[in-house]
Amino acid sequence: MRFDQARWTDDSDEKYEPLLSEKGNRELDVDSELPDDLTRDTLELPEVTEPELARHYTRLSEMNYGVESGPFPLGSCTMKYNPKFTEDLAAHPKAAVHPDRLESTAQGSLELMYELQDYLGRIGGMDAVTLQPPAGAAGEFTGILVAKAYHESHGDDRSEIVIPDSAHGTNFATAALAGYDVVSLPSNEDGRVDLEALEAALSEETAALMLTNPNTLGLFERDIVEIAELVHDVGGLLYYDGANLNALLGRARPGDMGFDIMHYNVHKTFATPHGGGGPGAGPVGVVEELAEFLPDPHVRASDGGYEFYTPEQSVGKVHGYYGNWSVLVKAHAYIARLGDAGLADASAKAVLNANYLASQVDYEIPFGPFHHEFVASAGEQDAADVAKRMLDYGVHPPTTKWPEIVSEALMTEPTEIESKRTLDQLAAAFNAARADDDATLEAAPERTAAGRIDQASAARNPRLSWHALDDE
Ligand SMILES: *Cc1c(COP(=O)(O)O)cnc(C)c1O
Repeated sequence: MRFDQARWTDDSDEKYEPLLSEKGNRELDVDSELPDDLTRDTLELPEVTEPELARHYTRLSEMNYGVESGPFPLGSCTMKYNPKFTEDLAAHPKAAVHPDRLESTAQGSLELMYELQDYLGRIGGMDAVTLQPPAGAAGEFTGILVAKAYHESHGDDRSEIVIPDSAHGTNFATAALAGYDVVSLPSNEDGRVDLEALEAALSEETAALMLTNPNTLGLFERDIVEIAELVHDVGGLLYYDGANLNALLGRARPGDMGFDIMHYNVHKTFATPHGGGGPGAGPVGVVEELAEFLPDPHVRASDGGYEFYTPEQSVGKVHGYYGNWSVLVKAHAYIARLGDAGLADASAKAVLNANYLASQVDYEIPFGPFHHEFVASAGEQDAADVAKRMLDYGVHPPTTKWPEIVSEALMTEPTEIESKRTLDQLAAAFNAARADDDATLEAAPERTAAGRIDQASAARNPRLSWHALDDE
Protein backbone atom coordinates (compact mmCIF):
# COMPACT_ATOMS: atom_id res chain seq x y z
CA MET A 1 0.00 0.00 0.00
CA ARG A 2 1.23 3.49 -0.77
CA PHE A 3 0.60 6.28 1.66
CA ASP A 4 0.94 10.02 1.38
CA GLN A 5 0.27 12.07 4.43
CA ALA A 6 -1.17 15.56 4.02
CA ARG A 7 1.29 18.44 4.22
CA TRP A 8 -0.52 21.67 4.81
CA THR A 9 1.79 24.65 4.63
CA ASP A 10 1.16 28.37 4.62
CA ASP A 11 1.97 30.48 1.57
CA SER A 12 5.63 30.87 2.46
CA ASP A 13 5.90 27.07 2.26
CA GLU A 14 8.30 27.23 5.16
CA LYS A 15 5.93 26.48 7.92
CA TYR A 16 3.22 23.96 8.39
CA GLU A 17 -0.39 24.85 9.08
CA PRO A 18 -0.11 28.14 11.00
CA LEU A 19 -1.31 28.67 14.53
CA LEU A 20 -4.82 30.00 14.88
CA SER A 21 -3.44 33.25 16.22
CA GLU A 22 -1.28 33.56 13.13
CA LYS A 23 -4.35 33.22 10.93
CA GLY A 24 -6.04 36.22 12.43
CA ASN A 25 -5.86 38.12 15.64
CA ARG A 26 -8.12 40.59 17.31
CA GLU A 27 -6.88 42.94 19.98
CA LEU A 28 -9.58 43.17 22.59
CA ASP A 29 -9.98 46.21 24.74
CA VAL A 30 -10.81 44.85 28.12
CA ASP A 31 -12.97 46.98 30.30
CA SER A 32 -12.84 45.78 33.86
CA GLU A 33 -13.52 47.02 37.36
CA LEU A 34 -10.67 44.96 38.78
CA PRO A 35 -7.65 46.88 40.14
CA ASP A 36 -5.21 48.00 37.43
CA ASP A 37 -2.39 45.77 38.58
CA LEU A 38 -4.58 42.72 38.03
CA THR A 39 -5.66 43.50 34.48
CA ARG A 40 -4.13 43.79 31.03
CA ASP A 41 -5.12 46.43 28.52
CA THR A 42 -5.32 44.08 25.62
CA LEU A 43 -5.90 40.40 25.16
CA GLU A 44 -4.60 38.63 22.07
CA LEU A 45 -7.27 36.22 20.95
CA PRO A 46 -7.41 34.43 17.61
CA GLU A 47 -10.29 35.56 15.46
CA VAL A 48 -11.31 33.03 12.84
CA THR A 49 -14.61 31.89 11.41
CA GLU A 50 -16.12 28.57 12.36
CA PRO A 51 -15.21 26.92 9.02
CA GLU A 52 -11.62 28.18 9.42
CA LEU A 53 -11.54 26.68 12.88
CA ALA A 54 -12.93 23.33 11.72
CA ARG A 55 -10.47 23.22 8.82
CA HIS A 56 -7.53 24.07 11.06
CA TYR A 57 -8.09 21.06 13.30
CA THR A 58 -8.98 18.77 10.42
CA ARG A 59 -5.71 19.73 8.69
CA LEU A 60 -3.71 19.08 11.83
CA SER A 61 -5.34 15.67 12.13
CA GLU A 62 -4.47 14.91 8.49
CA MET A 63 -0.83 15.60 9.28
CA ASN A 64 -0.90 13.18 12.17
CA TYR A 65 -1.28 9.45 12.56
CA GLY A 66 -3.43 7.79 15.18
CA VAL A 67 -5.16 4.55 15.99
CA GLU A 68 -8.08 5.80 13.91
CA SER A 69 -5.86 6.30 10.85
CA GLY A 70 -4.57 2.75 10.69
CA PRO A 71 -2.93 -0.05 12.64
CA PHE A 72 -0.72 1.01 15.57
CA PRO A 73 1.22 -2.09 16.68
CA LEU A 74 3.44 -0.34 19.20
CA GLY A 75 4.63 -3.25 21.36
CA SER A 76 3.97 -3.09 25.09
CA CYS A 77 1.77 -0.02 24.60
CA THR A 78 -1.46 -1.86 23.70
CA MET A 79 -2.79 0.84 21.39
CA LYS A 80 -6.44 -0.16 21.12
CA TYR A 81 -9.21 1.64 19.32
CA ASN A 82 -11.20 3.56 21.88
CA PRO A 83 -14.91 3.00 21.49
CA LYS A 84 -16.85 6.26 21.30
CA PHE A 85 -19.53 5.24 23.77
CA THR A 86 -16.95 5.46 26.56
CA GLU A 87 -16.15 9.03 25.51
CA ASP A 88 -19.84 9.88 25.49
CA LEU A 89 -20.21 8.58 29.03
CA ALA A 90 -17.13 10.38 30.31
CA ALA A 91 -18.46 13.60 28.76
CA HIS A 92 -21.95 13.11 30.23
CA PRO A 93 -23.01 16.06 32.41
CA LYS A 94 -23.64 13.67 35.30
CA ALA A 95 -19.99 12.59 35.17
CA ALA A 96 -18.87 16.20 35.64
CA VAL A 97 -18.79 16.20 39.42
CA HIS A 98 -16.83 18.79 41.36
CA PRO A 99 -14.26 16.91 43.44
CA ASP A 100 -15.10 18.94 46.53
CA ARG A 101 -18.74 17.96 46.51
CA LEU A 102 -20.10 16.29 49.61
CA GLU A 103 -19.95 12.51 49.51
CA SER A 104 -23.66 12.31 50.27
CA THR A 105 -24.46 14.27 47.07
CA ALA A 106 -22.05 12.33 44.85
CA GLN A 107 -23.12 8.81 45.65
CA GLY A 108 -23.36 7.79 41.98
CA SER A 109 -19.73 8.72 41.40
CA LEU A 110 -18.62 6.88 44.53
CA GLU A 111 -20.58 3.85 43.40
CA LEU A 112 -18.80 3.95 40.06
CA MET A 113 -15.43 4.10 41.82
CA TYR A 114 -16.40 1.31 44.18
CA GLU A 115 -17.53 -0.88 41.30
CA LEU A 116 -14.36 -0.20 39.33
CA GLN A 117 -12.24 -1.10 42.38
CA ASP A 118 -14.24 -4.32 42.53
CA TYR A 119 -14.01 -5.09 38.78
CA LEU A 120 -10.27 -4.56 38.74
CA GLY A 121 -9.84 -6.58 41.92
CA ARG A 122 -11.70 -9.50 40.38
CA ILE A 123 -9.84 -9.21 37.05
CA GLY A 124 -6.44 -9.22 38.79
CA GLY A 125 -7.24 -11.54 41.68
CA MET A 126 -6.46 -8.74 44.15
CA ASP A 127 -8.29 -7.99 47.41
CA ALA A 128 -8.20 -4.18 47.35
CA VAL A 129 -7.61 -1.62 44.61
CA THR A 130 -6.81 2.10 44.66
CA LEU A 131 -7.77 4.17 41.62
CA GLN A 132 -5.60 7.16 42.46
CA PRO A 133 -2.32 6.79 40.50
CA PRO A 134 -2.52 8.61 37.16
CA ALA A 135 -0.28 6.29 35.06
CA GLY A 136 1.39 2.92 35.04
CA ALA A 137 4.64 4.44 36.24
CA ALA A 138 2.79 6.24 39.04
CA GLY A 139 1.11 2.93 39.89
CA GLU A 140 4.50 1.25 40.15
CA PHE A 141 5.74 3.98 42.45
CA THR A 142 2.61 3.69 44.59
CA GLY A 143 2.89 -0.09 44.73
CA ILE A 144 6.52 0.02 45.78
CA LEU A 145 5.71 2.67 48.41
CA VAL A 146 3.11 0.23 49.74
CA ALA A 147 5.72 -2.56 49.79
CA LYS A 148 8.12 -0.29 51.64
CA ALA A 149 5.49 0.75 54.19
CA TYR A 150 4.61 -2.92 54.72
CA HIS A 151 8.21 -3.94 55.40
CA GLU A 152 8.79 -0.94 57.64
CA SER A 153 5.68 -1.76 59.65
CA HIS A 154 7.51 -4.97 60.60
CA GLY A 155 10.64 -3.04 61.46
CA ASP A 156 12.16 -4.58 58.37
CA ASP A 157 14.44 -2.20 56.53
CA ARG A 158 15.17 -3.78 53.15
CA SER A 159 17.33 -2.13 50.52
CA GLU A 160 16.92 -3.93 47.19
CA ILE A 161 14.44 -4.48 44.38
CA VAL A 162 15.14 -7.22 41.85
CA ILE A 163 14.15 -6.52 38.22
CA PRO A 164 14.70 -8.69 35.09
CA ASP A 165 16.82 -7.05 32.39
CA SER A 166 13.88 -7.26 29.95
CA ALA A 167 11.70 -5.01 32.15
CA HIS A 168 10.35 -1.58 31.20
CA GLY A 169 12.56 1.37 32.13
CA THR A 170 9.94 2.66 34.55
CA ASN A 171 10.53 -0.38 36.83
CA PHE A 172 14.15 0.64 37.36
CA ALA A 173 13.18 4.29 37.79
CA THR A 174 10.46 3.39 40.30
CA ALA A 175 12.83 1.35 42.46
CA ALA A 176 15.42 4.12 42.43
CA LEU A 177 12.86 6.84 43.16
CA ALA A 178 11.56 4.85 46.14
CA GLY A 179 15.12 4.74 47.50
CA TYR A 180 16.06 1.15 46.61
CA ASP A 181 19.13 -0.32 45.00
CA VAL A 182 18.28 -2.15 41.79
CA VAL A 183 19.48 -5.71 41.29
CA SER A 184 19.21 -6.48 37.58
CA LEU A 185 18.36 -10.06 36.70
CA PRO A 186 19.71 -11.54 33.44
CA SER A 187 17.25 -13.54 31.30
CA ASN A 188 18.00 -17.16 30.45
CA GLU A 189 18.48 -18.35 26.88
CA ASP A 190 14.70 -18.82 26.49
CA GLY A 191 14.18 -15.13 27.29
CA ARG A 192 12.61 -15.86 30.68
CA VAL A 193 13.60 -15.42 34.32
CA ASP A 194 16.63 -17.58 35.10
CA LEU A 195 15.74 -19.39 38.34
CA GLU A 196 19.34 -19.90 39.40
CA ALA A 197 20.16 -16.27 38.80
CA LEU A 198 17.01 -15.33 40.72
CA GLU A 199 18.00 -17.45 43.72
CA ALA A 200 21.41 -15.84 43.70
CA ALA A 201 19.89 -12.34 43.53
CA LEU A 202 17.38 -12.83 46.36
CA SER A 203 18.29 -12.19 49.99
CA GLU A 204 16.98 -10.74 53.23
CA GLU A 205 17.58 -7.37 51.57
CA THR A 206 15.01 -8.06 48.82
CA ALA A 207 11.97 -5.85 49.27
CA ALA A 208 10.32 -7.03 46.05
CA LEU A 209 10.73 -8.63 42.66
CA MET A 210 9.05 -6.62 39.88
CA LEU A 211 7.88 -8.84 37.05
CA THR A 212 5.94 -8.42 33.80
CA ASN A 213 4.03 -11.53 32.76
CA PRO A 214 3.90 -12.27 29.86
CA ASN A 215 7.24 -10.48 29.75
CA THR A 216 8.22 -7.87 27.19
CA LEU A 217 9.12 -10.63 24.70
CA GLY A 218 5.49 -11.77 24.95
CA LEU A 219 6.62 -14.95 26.76
CA PHE A 220 4.69 -16.34 29.70
CA GLU A 221 6.88 -16.91 32.75
CA ARG A 222 6.02 -20.58 33.15
CA ASP A 223 7.91 -20.88 36.42
CA ILE A 224 5.83 -18.18 38.04
CA VAL A 225 4.66 -20.35 40.95
CA GLU A 226 8.24 -21.32 41.76
CA ILE A 227 9.37 -17.70 41.32
CA ALA A 228 6.70 -16.59 43.80
CA GLU A 229 7.85 -19.19 46.32
CA LEU A 230 11.47 -18.13 46.05
CA VAL A 231 10.59 -14.46 46.58
CA HIS A 232 8.24 -15.17 49.48
CA ASP A 233 10.78 -17.49 51.12
CA VAL A 234 13.15 -14.56 51.66
CA GLY A 235 10.27 -12.39 52.92
CA GLY A 236 10.05 -10.33 49.72
CA LEU A 237 6.90 -9.26 47.86
CA LEU A 238 6.04 -10.03 44.26
CA TYR A 239 5.06 -7.02 42.12
CA TYR A 240 3.17 -7.44 38.83
CA ASP A 241 3.72 -4.86 36.10
CA GLY A 242 0.26 -4.94 34.52
CA ALA A 243 1.15 -3.40 31.16
CA ASN A 244 0.76 -6.79 29.45
CA LEU A 245 -2.50 -7.76 31.14
CA ASN A 246 -4.17 -7.70 27.72
CA ALA A 247 -2.63 -11.14 27.13
CA LEU A 248 -4.34 -12.71 30.15
CA LEU A 249 -7.53 -10.73 30.54
CA GLY A 250 -10.41 -12.93 31.70
CA ARG A 251 -8.19 -16.06 31.57
CA ALA A 252 -5.53 -15.91 34.25
CA ARG A 253 -5.04 -13.66 37.28
CA PRO A 254 -1.80 -12.33 38.74
CA GLY A 255 -3.24 -12.84 42.24
CA ASP A 256 -3.62 -16.57 41.55
CA MET A 257 0.01 -16.74 40.39
CA GLY A 258 1.25 -15.47 43.74
CA PHE A 259 1.62 -11.74 43.02
CA ASP A 260 1.04 -9.45 46.03
CA ILE A 261 0.84 -6.07 44.31
CA MET A 262 0.03 -5.03 40.75
CA HIS A 263 -0.77 -2.00 38.69
CA TYR A 264 -3.26 -1.89 35.84
CA ASN A 265 -2.54 0.30 32.81
CA VAL A 266 -6.14 1.34 32.35
CA HIS A 267 -5.17 3.35 29.27
CA LYS A 268 -3.67 0.24 27.67
CA THR A 269 -5.85 -2.70 28.65
CA PHE A 270 -9.15 -0.89 29.06
CA ALA A 271 -9.21 1.27 25.96
CA THR A 272 -8.55 4.82 26.94
CA PRO A 273 -6.75 6.92 24.31
CA HIS A 274 -3.11 7.40 25.16
CA GLY A 275 0.16 8.48 23.68
CA GLY A 276 1.95 11.76 23.82
CA GLY A 277 2.03 11.56 27.58
CA GLY A 278 -1.48 10.91 28.74
CA PRO A 279 -3.90 11.12 30.31
CA GLY A 280 -4.06 7.67 31.83
CA ALA A 281 -4.69 5.83 35.04
CA GLY A 282 -2.64 3.24 36.88
CA PRO A 283 -4.80 1.74 39.63
CA VAL A 284 -2.96 -0.52 42.06
CA GLY A 285 -4.29 -3.78 43.46
CA VAL A 286 -2.94 -5.51 46.55
CA VAL A 287 -3.57 -8.62 48.64
CA GLU A 288 -5.47 -8.31 51.91
CA GLU A 289 -2.40 -7.84 54.14
CA LEU A 290 -1.35 -4.73 52.20
CA ALA A 291 -4.77 -3.03 51.92
CA GLU A 292 -4.24 -0.83 54.97
CA PHE A 293 -1.27 0.87 53.26
CA LEU A 294 -3.15 2.04 50.13
CA PRO A 295 -3.38 5.75 49.27
CA ASP A 296 -5.89 8.09 50.83
CA PRO A 297 -8.82 8.24 50.24
CA HIS A 298 -10.29 4.87 49.36
CA VAL A 299 -13.97 4.11 48.64
CA ARG A 300 -15.94 1.60 50.69
CA ALA A 301 -19.58 0.61 51.05
CA SER A 302 -21.42 1.84 54.13
CA ASP A 303 -25.06 1.85 55.26
CA GLY A 304 -26.51 1.17 51.85
CA GLY A 305 -24.26 3.86 50.30
CA TYR A 306 -20.58 4.61 49.74
CA GLU A 307 -17.98 6.67 51.58
CA PHE A 308 -14.36 7.71 51.43
CA TYR A 309 -12.04 6.58 54.17
CA THR A 310 -8.36 6.70 54.99
CA PRO A 311 -6.72 3.26 55.15
CA GLU A 312 -5.12 2.80 58.59
CA GLN A 313 -1.47 3.01 57.61
CA SER A 314 -1.97 4.80 54.30
CA VAL A 315 1.08 5.90 52.32
CA GLY A 316 -0.85 9.16 51.79
CA LYS A 317 -1.88 10.81 48.56
CA VAL A 318 -0.22 10.09 45.24
CA HIS A 319 -2.41 12.39 43.13
CA GLY A 320 -4.84 15.26 43.62
CA TYR A 321 -8.28 14.17 44.72
CA TYR A 322 -9.26 10.75 43.33
CA GLY A 323 -7.10 10.22 40.27
CA ASN A 324 -7.88 10.83 36.60
CA TRP A 325 -11.63 10.63 36.92
CA SER A 326 -12.73 10.68 33.27
CA VAL A 327 -10.24 7.91 32.45
CA LEU A 328 -11.76 5.84 35.25
CA VAL A 329 -15.27 6.43 33.90
CA LYS A 330 -14.13 5.10 30.50
CA ALA A 331 -12.53 2.03 32.05
CA HIS A 332 -15.68 1.28 34.01
CA ALA A 333 -17.82 1.63 30.89
CA TYR A 334 -15.49 -0.54 28.82
CA ILE A 335 -15.31 -3.36 31.38
CA ALA A 336 -19.07 -3.28 32.04
CA ARG A 337 -19.85 -3.39 28.32
CA LEU A 338 -17.51 -6.29 27.55
CA GLY A 339 -18.31 -8.37 30.63
CA ASP A 340 -16.41 -11.52 31.61
CA ALA A 341 -16.89 -13.23 28.26
CA GLY A 342 -15.97 -10.11 26.28
CA LEU A 343 -12.75 -9.59 28.24
CA ALA A 344 -11.71 -13.21 27.75
CA ASP A 345 -12.53 -12.88 24.06
CA ALA A 346 -10.37 -9.75 23.80
CA SER A 347 -7.28 -11.52 25.17
CA ALA A 348 -7.88 -14.56 22.96
CA LYS A 349 -8.05 -12.39 19.86
CA ALA A 350 -5.04 -10.33 20.95
CA VAL A 351 -2.97 -13.52 21.16
CA LEU A 352 -4.37 -14.93 17.92
CA ASN A 353 -3.67 -11.67 16.06
CA ALA A 354 -0.07 -11.49 17.28
CA ASN A 355 0.54 -15.08 16.26
CA TYR A 356 -1.11 -14.69 12.86
CA LEU A 357 0.83 -11.51 12.10
CA ALA A 358 4.10 -13.15 13.18
CA SER A 359 3.42 -16.04 10.81
CA GLN A 360 3.19 -13.59 7.89
CA VAL A 361 6.28 -11.50 8.68
CA ASP A 362 9.60 -12.27 6.94
CA TYR A 363 11.77 -11.00 9.82
CA GLU A 364 13.26 -13.53 12.22
CA ILE A 365 11.52 -13.91 15.60
CA PRO A 366 14.07 -15.41 17.98
CA PHE A 367 11.87 -16.08 21.04
CA GLY A 368 8.55 -17.90 21.43
CA PRO A 369 5.93 -19.19 21.84
CA PHE A 370 4.59 -15.74 22.50
CA HIS A 371 1.24 -14.37 23.54
CA HIS A 372 -0.09 -10.90 22.68
CA GLU A 373 3.15 -9.51 21.21
CA PHE A 374 6.32 -10.71 19.51
CA VAL A 375 9.76 -9.24 19.11
CA ALA A 376 11.20 -9.64 15.62
CA SER A 377 14.80 -8.81 14.80
CA ALA A 378 15.57 -6.43 11.95
CA GLY A 379 18.85 -8.35 11.58
CA GLU A 380 21.29 -6.43 9.38
CA GLN A 381 18.90 -3.53 9.06
CA ASP A 382 18.59 -0.72 11.58
CA ALA A 383 15.28 -1.14 13.44
CA ALA A 384 14.76 2.63 13.56
CA ASP A 385 15.14 2.88 9.77
CA VAL A 386 12.68 0.05 9.31
CA ALA A 387 10.23 1.86 11.56
CA LYS A 388 10.54 5.10 9.58
CA ARG A 389 10.08 3.23 6.33
CA MET A 390 6.94 1.50 7.57
CA LEU A 391 5.36 4.95 7.94
CA ASP A 392 5.71 5.34 4.18
CA TYR A 393 3.69 2.16 3.76
CA GLY A 394 0.80 3.66 5.72
CA VAL A 395 1.11 1.89 9.05
CA HIS A 396 2.45 2.90 12.43
CA PRO A 397 5.68 1.01 13.15
CA PRO A 398 6.32 -1.27 16.11
CA THR A 399 8.35 -0.28 19.18
CA THR A 400 12.03 -0.43 18.29
CA LYS A 401 15.33 -1.40 19.93
CA TRP A 402 13.71 -2.75 23.08
CA PRO A 403 13.95 -5.18 24.77
CA GLU A 404 17.68 -5.27 24.19
CA ILE A 405 17.87 -9.08 24.36
CA VAL A 406 16.84 -9.06 20.69
CA SER A 407 19.20 -7.17 18.41
CA GLU A 408 17.50 -4.43 16.37
CA ALA A 409 14.21 -5.30 18.05
CA LEU A 410 10.85 -4.72 16.39
CA MET A 411 8.42 -5.24 19.26
CA THR A 412 5.02 -5.76 17.75
CA GLU A 413 1.58 -5.85 19.35
CA PRO A 414 -1.38 -5.66 16.98
CA THR A 415 -4.03 -6.04 19.76
CA GLU A 416 -7.41 -7.70 19.31
CA ILE A 417 -8.92 -4.81 17.37
CA GLU A 418 -7.38 -5.57 13.96
CA SER A 419 -9.10 -7.61 11.25
CA LYS A 420 -7.25 -10.20 9.16
CA ARG A 421 -7.31 -7.71 6.29
CA THR A 422 -5.48 -5.11 8.37
CA LEU A 423 -3.01 -7.67 9.71
CA ASP A 424 -2.18 -8.62 6.12
CA GLN A 425 -1.61 -4.97 5.30
CA LEU A 426 0.71 -4.69 8.30
CA ALA A 427 2.63 -7.80 7.27
CA ALA A 428 2.97 -6.38 3.76
CA ALA A 429 4.50 -3.20 5.23
CA PHE A 430 7.00 -5.21 7.28
CA ASN A 431 7.94 -7.31 4.28
CA ALA A 432 8.24 -4.36 1.92
CA ALA A 433 10.66 -2.69 4.37
CA ARG A 434 12.55 -5.99 4.64
CA ALA A 435 13.12 -5.88 0.89
CA ASP A 436 14.17 -2.20 0.76
CA ASP A 437 17.83 -1.29 0.35
CA ASP A 438 19.77 0.67 2.95
CA ALA A 439 19.69 3.95 1.03
CA THR A 440 15.89 3.83 0.85
CA LEU A 441 15.60 2.98 4.52
CA GLU A 442 17.93 5.78 5.56
CA ALA A 443 15.98 8.33 3.50
CA ALA A 444 12.65 7.33 5.05
CA PRO A 445 10.10 8.58 5.76
CA GLU A 446 9.41 10.32 2.44
CA ARG A 447 5.64 10.44 2.42
CA THR A 448 4.82 11.82 5.83
CA ALA A 449 4.08 15.43 6.74
CA ALA A 450 7.40 15.69 8.59
CA GLY A 451 10.57 13.84 7.57
CA ARG A 452 13.16 12.43 9.97
CA ILE A 453 13.03 14.45 13.10
CA ASP A 454 15.63 14.71 15.83
CA GLN A 455 13.82 12.51 18.35
CA ALA A 456 16.26 12.92 21.21
CA SER A 457 16.09 16.72 21.07
CA ALA A 458 12.34 16.63 20.64
CA ALA A 459 12.03 14.63 23.86
CA ARG A 460 14.68 16.45 25.89
CA ASN A 461 14.10 19.99 24.73
CA PRO A 462 10.47 20.20 23.66
CA ARG A 463 9.25 23.46 22.19
CA LEU A 464 5.54 23.24 22.30
CA SER A 465 4.61 26.38 20.40
CA TRP A 466 5.56 27.93 17.09
CA HIS A 467 6.42 31.06 19.02
CA ALA A 468 9.29 29.21 20.68
CA LEU A 469 10.73 28.63 17.21
CA ASP A 470 10.15 32.24 16.19
CA ASP A 471 12.06 33.41 19.24
CA GLU A 472 15.25 31.68 18.22
C1 LIG B 1 3.68 1.27 29.44
C2 LIG B 1 4.45 0.44 30.38
C3 LIG B 1 4.74 0.88 31.68
C4 LIG B 1 4.47 2.29 32.18
O1 LIG B 1 3.17 2.68 32.06
P1 LIG B 1 2.76 4.21 31.80
O2 LIG B 1 1.29 4.18 31.96
O3 LIG B 1 3.23 4.55 30.43
O4 LIG B 1 3.41 5.03 32.86
C5 LIG B 1 5.36 -0.01 32.54
N1 LIG B 1 5.73 -1.23 32.14
C6 LIG B 1 5.50 -1.68 30.87
C7 LIG B 1 5.92 -3.09 30.49
C8 LIG B 1 4.87 -0.86 29.95
O5 LIG B 1 4.65 -1.27 28.70
